[in-house]
Amino acid sequence: MILAPQTEPTQQPKQNCLTWNQLINNPAFKEAFEIAWKDTAKSGKENGGWIFYDPKANTLYSHRASEGERRSMPRIEDDYRNQLSQFQRNGQAVVFFAMFHTHPGGTPYPSGDDLTWLGDKSKSQTGNLPISKLGIVIHGPGKYTLFHQYGELSPTDRRLNDCIQW
Ligand SMILES: [Zn+2]
Repeated sequence: MILAPQTEPTQQPKQNCLTWNQLINNPAFKEAFEIAWKDTAKSGKENGGWIFYDPKANTLYSHRASEGERRSMPRIEDDYRNQLSQFQRNGQAVVFFAMFHTHPGGTPYPSGDDLTWLGDKSKSQTGNLPISKLGIVIHGPGKYTLFHQYGELSPTDRRLNDCIQW
């Protein structure tokens, strides 16, 4: 999925300011989250993917991983590496911003594996982010829990309105 640039000069006077709240409330991403949940409702298995940013094109991309199991996504690391290779072959230098996935049983918080995976990705990229990287657990239609590598984030966390810097 390719999305239009997120920086609207009329809404955000500061150039290149993208906030986490803007990102997760983007209709195209919400649609991607809802489609993942619909797939999960059908199969009973985890579905998800990632959000990447291409600074040169000022564009966000959402990509899906292959469907997982009931309580895990065993191929997510391979899928992630394949996706990065694909970007590389296209000559695109992207920044990993976020991962999203469903919890078929409706568990509304990230698992230990979720935190480890995100922590690993947060360490592997340099940058000055107010929140290292974002995780999104989809635990029902329209039901999302945000987390970073240390745990859940309150929807009212002020850092969600900070410009993401990279
Ligand atoms: Zn999970």
